[in-house]
Amino acid sequence: MCRHLGWLGASVSASSLVLDPPSGLLVQSYSPRRQKHGTINADGWGVGFFDRGVRRWRSDKPLWGDTSFASVAPTLHSGCFVAAVRSATVGMPIEPSASAPFSDGTWLLSHNGVVDRAVLPAAAAAESTVDSAVLAAHIFERGLHALGDTVARVGARDPGARLNILAADGATLLATTWGDTLFALQRDDGIVLASEPYDDDPSWRDIPDRHLVEVSGARLTLTPLEGS
Ligand code: GLN
Repeated sequence: MCRHLGWLGASVSASSLVLDPPSGLLVQSYSPRRQKHGTINADGWGVGFFDRGVRRWRSDKPLWGDTSFASVAPTLHSGCFVAAVRSATVGMPIEPSASAPFSDGTWLLSHNGVVDRAVLPAAAAAESTVDSAVLAAHIFERGLHALGDTVARVGARDPGARLNILAADGATLLATTWGDTLFALQRDDGIVLASEPYDDDPSWRDIPDRHLVEVSGARLTLTPLEGS
């Protein structure tokens, strides 16, 4: 399924996180190393960050073909990013508004996985009919303070769901593992959470399944989720 990446730390460029690393999201769009579901992530991409509010750039095309983004990305700086490349679930629309990150104006949120929309309340505020957008709207409605609880409840209603969420509000990164991979890297200048390591640094830490990850400042805490 999709691959996502979050950053909280010093101000860095979008290209340094997404395009430059040897196995970053750009390379993961055509050659992911740890992907268990799907093969490539060519159905769109999105880069969101905070700079006096939420900023997003989303597309329904492969990241590798976007020379405009590649040209501008070195000038986009922030201390907090959520970025993703997408492998659309069969039957889901392919349109820019179906690419993560989704937003309620305060949070940026990405979903790596799949969920039966029938177990979610119809959300008027969903940005697209894609399952991830309906799930994002449901999470926004319940509040991010309840993220772990919401994921466990949705997981109980749809046992086949995979619910890896990554969210940020500029001061905090939140993530869940529920059916797919997530790794954390504590750098001197900040913390990266990513579906898979963007390089071969041995300090990438594998986050166990069915956990909530909270990052604020330089602190990362892990809490087991209900149902784990
Ligand atoms: N189900 C979502 C979609 O279709 C996410 C897919 C994924 O994680 N690959 O976009």
